[in-house]
Amino acid sequence: MDGNSSAEFKELVRSRTDIVQLIGESVSLQPQQGGRVFKGLCPFHDDHNPSFTVNPERQSYKCWVCNEGGDCFSFVMKHDTLGFPETLEFLARRAHLEMPAKLRRGPAESSHKPQLYDVLMWAQDEFHNYLNSSAAGERARNYLRERGFTQATISRCKFGYSPDDWEWLIRRAKGRFDVELLFDARLVSKRSEGGGCFDFFRDRVLFPIHDERSRVVAFGGRILPDNKYENAQKYLNSVDSAIFHKSRLCFGLAWAREAIKKSKTVVVTEGYTDCLKVQQAGLMNAVATLGTALTDSHVTLLKRLASKVVLVYDGDKAGKDAAERSLSKFLAQDVDLRILTLPGDLDPDEFVTAHGAKALEKLIDSAPEVAEYELRVLIGRHGTETIDARMRILDGMLQLLIMSPGIVGTVKEDMLIGRLPQRLGLSESDVRRRLKEMRGENQNRLIRTTERRVSATEPTGESPQHRWRPAILSLQQTQSKDDLLECELLQLLFTSPDIVDAVRREIGTDDFKNDVLQELLTVCFDLSDDGQLPSFDKVLTRLECPDLKGLIVWIDEQAREREIAIRLAQDAAREGDDSFNGLLRQVLDGLKWRRTQDSHRAAQGRLIERPRESASLTQETLDLLKQASQFHQRRSSRKV
Ligand SMILES: [Zn+2]
Repeated sequence: MDGNSSAEFKELVRSRTDIVQLIGESVSLQPQQGGRVFKGLCPFHDDHNPSFTVNPERQSYKCWVCNEGGDCFSFVMKHDTLGFPETLEFLARRAHLEMPAKLRRGPAESSHKPQLYDVLMWAQDEFHNYLNSSAAGERARNYLRERGFTQATISRCKFGYSPDDWEWLIRRAKGRFDVELLFDARLVSKRSEGGGCFDFFRDRVLFPIHDERSRVVAFGGRILPDNKYENAQKYLNSVDSAIFHKSRLCFGLAWAREAIKKSKTVVVTEGYTDCLKVQQAGLMNAVATLGTALTDSHVTLLKRLASKVVLVYDGDKAGKDAAERSLSKFLAQDVDLRILTLPGDLDPDEFVTAHGAKALEKLIDSAPEVAEYELRVLIGRHGTETIDARMRILDGMLQLLIMSPGIVGTVKEDMLIGRLPQRLGLSESDVRRRLKEMRGENQNRLIRTTERRVSATEPTGESPQHRWRPAILSLQQTQSKDDLLECELLQLLFTSPDIVDAVRREIGTDDFKNDVLQELLTVCFDLSDDGQLPSFDKVLTRLECPDLKGLIVWIDEQAREREIAIRLAQDAAREGDDSFNGLLRQVLDGLKWRRTQDSHRAAQGRLIERPRESASLTQETLDLLKQASQFHQRRSSRKV
């Protein structure tokens, strides 16, 4: 591939992408220092304080805890687990740029996520139009009306209808999309015998399921009540695919995002129809899980946008059980998690229909937090009359604490324990003793689980994509004197790329000892060979490896911390137009001195190795001795 035109296109895509906006789609960012940086919770580690910064001027991001960093490309690659070509395609589309023909990928080259989004978007329109304008859609339209959905909601959320036909969608797709693609998008199923495919959804009202970037990734289908099938499942969701992961997705998030940001609160219902009805009633900050309990990935996703998460469960027994099952998992999360079970066995849909949004909002505002909820449930179950009942409640509450290992020794733990003695009429020392006992019983099991978890996350083998990772990690953890010097030169180059010619007159890439840093210097020099200045963003764009990108953002941030730009400006003011100013001179001299030292060491080695038997000194030996004496002279004259 022609390197230059590919680099130009990458730069074009980068220049048309606003990194604050891009990252803001998945992380809630707050402007700091008058908008010079934006801060949020890091999406790459379990972040508790906002340690993730986005720099609009540099168009880069960086986490101060896990050291992830880079540009728009590496963000999408990491966050959406895409390869570079797909990332380029995704960002190009997002910026409404057409991919140059030579950059377009063949079908076999990589995964085909962009085509999956295309076919699902197309299917959404097909189903939606069929619902609105076909005679067969009448039954579906009636059903939705009876369920209380307004036309506005139907249009906004693009509800659809798939007719009672085994090959309706397959026929519509003919000449446009491959059946294999329909299958990969989970729109059709394969026949178990005789080959061929059939439509996955039949005679169902379809609710499109969008990801957090508002792309259709799946459908939820509700069978029409008067269907002809026996024992048809009432609700049927798309099966997981390359772009749809049920346990991670929050239904409705794309619509709810703004309201969540504004209210700092997110309301989580158990199903999408509840979520849709609650949103329709005016509480736009509602999302739903898709037939699964709230998972860790849900909470991690949501707490980046909201500080308070309210789980709304149906008032029936199943709802209450579901609530209890997920409690301990979230006790240690640093999010204000509240549980609301609705009165009178109602689900959220029925509740807003009967009582309105205001009434629901009131309940949401006063919903108890997790531990309080559990305490009330246990008190309701056992009563507090007898010592035995109170001990059972205590054990239940302590069990909750034990199940969330992350809470040990935290203020939250103290608060939770602190309220128990009074509520249960026990002494605090009794409570603590019982906790210690129970923790002891659980200790071994916990250690085993933790060990398993750690070994499961360890890297398995070295993948070519991460070949730099070990070197980068060791560089960032223990910067040697040599590394520091080399990083310093790169900091100077990124801060003031026009010094590149002066640098190249004195330093070559082989003057760098650290392989990773040498790789970065090589990219700088390659750019200058192409007649371009190795500016921070040019280097960033030319690199495709996210780990290397992270490294250069790290180096660039160090340059800012050390105020390299200010020091360069001061040097220039002092020395006029002389480009060999103080700091740069110092670094170049440092590198050159190191080179001299190394060649002296090599010469010394060769002197020692000389064969003893040759009595007379050869010219070569004389030269080496001369070099050595010069070296000692220079070293003694050097100010250390
Ligand atoms: Zn991080």
